[in-house]
Amino acid sequence: MQEPDRIVVPPQSGRSFRVKRGDLIRIIDPRGQQVSDLWAFSTEGRLDWLSTSQTRDITERLFPNPGDHFYSAAGEPMLTLIEDASPGPHDMLYPACDSALYERAGLPNHPNCRDNLMRALGTEGIDLPFAPDPVDLFQNSMPQPDGTLVVQASINPPGGYVTLRAEQDLLLVVTACSVDHHPTNGGVCTEIEVEIVPGP
Ligand SMILES: [Zn+2]
Repeated sequence: MQEPDRIVVPPQSGRSFRVKRGDLIRIIDPRGQQVSDLWAFSTEGRLDWLSTSQTRDITERLFPNPGDHFYSAAGEPMLTLIEDASPGPHDMLYPACDSALYERAGLPNHPNCRDNLMRALGTEGIDLPFAPDPVDLFQNSMPQPDGTLVVQASINPPGGYVTLRAEQDLLLVVTACSVDHHPTNGGVCTEIEVEIVPGP
C-alpha cells in the first residue's frame, strides 16, 4: 500500500494542498481540543467552493454525519465525510476567526484563520476577494435551546480525526485555529496533521 502524504499544519497557521477525485484526506488533531478550519475550492475549471450554507440546506443538518457530502456554492458534492473518529461536533455556522474578532477582544495583530487562508491561497497564486465560511472541524459550538450560540472548549481527544473523500479535483486549505484567549482550543493552540491517501 502506498504511504500517505503527510502535512503538518503548525499552531496558528494554515496550509494549502491539491487532491484528486477519489483521494482520501485524514485531518488529525494529535494533541486534542484543537479546532481545524477547512476550505475546499474546485480546480475543475470554474470558480466554486465548499459552502456551509448549501451543505446545511441540502443535508438538512447543522452538523455533518458520516456518509454526508459537503456541497459547493453551486450545489455539487465536493467532499464526503467517510469516517468520524472524533466526538465532533463539526461546526458549520461560524465564520473563520479574523483580525476584527481579535481586535474586538483587545488583541490587535493576532494570528487568525482568515489571514492564514489568504496566505495559503497566496502560495497558490490565488487572490480571493472574499473568504467563504469554513467547516470548523472539532469546534464545540452546539446551539442552545433558546437559540444562543456559544463556543465551548473542544471535546476532541488526542488523536481524534475525520476522514474525507474528494468528490472532485480540489484545492484544500486547512488551518490550526489561532484562538488562544477563549476556551475554543482548550486554552492552548497546537498543530493539526493531514494525511492524503491517493485514490484508486
Ligand atoms: Zn480560527
